[in-house]
Amino acid sequence: MAEVEKARRNSAKIQTIKFEDFLSKYPPGEVHSITDLGISRSPLSIPILIKPRLKLHCPDSFCNGVRFFDSYQTQKVTLTQKWSRVFLHYSCSNCRSRSKIFAIMARWNDAADEGEAVKLGEWPPFGPQVSLGIISILGKNKDMFLMGRRAEIHGLGIGAFAYYRRVIESQKDHIIDEIIRVLRRTNSPETQIEKLKSAKTEKQFKKAVALISDAIPQALLINGYNPLALLEQAIAKGSDAQHDNEALKLATAIRIILTELAERLIRALEDQTDLDTAVDFILQHD
Ligand SMILES: [Zn+2]
Repeated sequence: MAEVEKARRNSAKIQTIKFEDFLSKYPPGEVHSITDLGISRSPLSIPILIKPRLKLHCPDSFCNGVRFFDSYQTQKVTLTQKWSRVFLHYSCSNCRSRSKIFAIMARWNDAADEGEAVKLGEWPPFGPQVSLGIISILGKNKDMFLMGRRAEIHGLGIGAFAYYRRVIESQKDHIIDEIIRVLRRTNSPETQIEKLKSAKTEKQFKKAVALISDAIPQALLINGYNPLALLEQAIAKGSDAQHDNEALKLATAIRIILTELAERLIRALEDQTDLDTAVDFILQHD
C-alpha cells in the first residue's frame, strides 16, 4: 500500500468529503479523507465501515431515473490504520434488478480521527449520467458533451468550457429546429418561425441569438430569460475567463441551462401531444 501513501502525500490537497459523495460522485484514483467512513461503538473500539444509502441513476426501464441504492451485505468491515481492500455491492432498492459494485481501499487515520479511502474502480463504470432529454437535443455531439461533463467533474474548467462551447455551437441549428417544432405545435405566427429560420442561416451563434431575441416561446423561457441568450452570455464571459475556477463555474452554468432547455423542449412537445389527444377524445365523443 506504499503507492497509496505516496499518492496521498503527493496529492495537492486532500478534500474531506462525505462517504456517500465519495462513492457516487467522485472518479476512481483519488485519495480522499472521509468524514463519515466509519463508526465506533465506544471510544476505544475499532471503527466499522458504514455503507451509506446512495442516490444513483438506475438504467432499468422500470426505473430509468435517480433511485436509492442500498447495500445488503451483512459482513462487517473493520477499519484500522492499515489499508484494506473492500468490495461494496449495492442494488437499486426500487427494482432490485440493477446493481453497482465498488472496489475501494479504506483505512482509519487515528491521528486525524477520520477515515481515508481511494476508489480503485466500479461497475458499471464511473461516468456522468445524462438525461434522455439532453441526449435527444445533442444528437451526434453527445460524446463531446460527456467529455465536457468528465472535465467538469475533474474540476478542469477551461477544458469543460471548451467542450460545452463546441457542443452548443455545433448543435445551434438542431436546437433552433426543436424550438420551431414547439412553435408549430402551438400554432404560433409564421413571422416568429421565419425569425428562427433566418437565425439558422447565421453562422455566428451571437448574431443568430440576437435575431431571435423575441421569438422564443414562453414555455421555454428560463426564469423569464431566453435560454439561448443565457448560453451566449455564458460563452462570451467564459472566453474572457482568466482563471480555471471561473471557467468551471461558467461551464457548470452552461450545462445546467442546456439541460433545462432540453427538458423544457421535451415537456412542451409532450404537453402538446397530451392536449391534442384530449381535444381529439372530446371531439370524437361529441
Ligand atoms: Zn432500479
